[in-house]
Amino acid sequence: MKRLDGTVALVTGASSGIGEATAEQLAARGAAVALAARRADRLDAVAARIRSAGGTALVIEADVTDQAQAVSAVEHTVAELGRLDTLVNNAGVMLLGPVVGAPTEEWDRMVRVNLLGLLYCSHAAVPHLIRAASDGSRGVADLVNISSVAGRVPRSGSGVYNATKFGVGAFSESLRQEVTQKHVRVSLVEPGATDTELRGHNRPEVMETIMARFKDVEPLQAEDIADTVLYIVTRPRHMSVNELLVRPTEQA
Ligand code: NDP
Repeated sequence: MKRLDGTVALVTGASSGIGEATAEQLAARGAAVALAARRADRLDAVAARIRSAGGTALVIEADVTDQAQAVSAVEHTVAELGRLDTLVNNAGVMLLGPVVGAPTEEWDRMVRVNLLGLLYCSHAAVPHLIRAASDGSRGVADLVNISSVAGRVPRSGSGVYNATKFGVGAFSESLRQEVTQKHVRVSLVEPGATDTELRGHNRPEVMETIMARFKDVEPLQAEDIADTVLYIVTRPRHMSVNELLVRPTEQA
């Protein structure tokens, strides 16, 4: 696979799961990686592993739902690492359960992280990505949005999560059309059940439903989705992978 030496990537939600694995794989391919999330201790641990493997990592403690912090995460990356070739909008929360009787603060959290956070980071990053595409040896830059199977298939019990991830899909295709001729590739990754901390934030009764639904499914590992992102960002300049839906084999 092609190397990413000389490029700079910013990964949101890099303190665990898919974001952590993606940051590590990008760094292993030679990209300098900025790691953004709220849990600085977890980011420090990821950065230490990347550095001990010979890579470059920058820790940025940021809550992407605060626009000033999202902008500052992007600007800090460019100030410290010199440019921005790749943004992976991965930060997300999944709080499932029926619409009727739902604690609507869970809806607020999902809309703010999954949609607004992704929009703020994209808005701040795209001018830098356009610049990187025009002045880098690769001649291309990447914005990868992590959506979900839930961005393609609505289900009873995940209505608002569905709404946020369908929104990510719609925004991604619109932005793709806007910037693709400037050689910024906008890609959408839609993972199925992946073994991370994500579902652990649900209420106990919701957790039970999720566990029952996936009890016979061998989940994807975070590394599988990181590998998918790596595939996307290492394609040649003329090839843009618009969308990849990746499920565990046993997920119906
Ligand atoms: P994790 O819970 O392990 O990771 C979520 C990441 O998002 C954490 O690093 C967390 O960091 C970060 N995050 C949450 N809120 C904020 C915030 N306000 N500001 C900055 N960062 C934030 O779950 P996954 O790795 O599974 O999730 C990553 C993405 O993958 C999400 O978008 C999710 O919807 C998507 N996905 C996951 C699937 C799965 O089955 N696991 C399936 C389909 C899609 P911190 O708490 O430190 O801020």
